[in-house]
Amino acid sequence: MARPKKAAYSFACKDIGMDCGFTATANTEEELMAKIREHARTAHNMQNIDDATMAKIKAAIKKA
Ligand SMILES: [Zn+2]
Repeated sequence: MARPKKAAYSFACKDIGMDCGFTATANTEEELMAKIREHARTAHNMQNIDDATMAKIKAAIKKA
């Protein structure tokens, strides 16, 4: 029996205080971080995520 694939990790940009509707889900934390980095670069013009923001992101990541 095939079960629908369930994302194990999720992140919502608004959870770190951004006025932004972006959400991401992934099966691994690495995959999720890659999506977040890409989003930060393209949507928020953050070439590098600083330590304070990274800490907020890690705290906001939800594990299913
Ligand atoms: Zn965002």
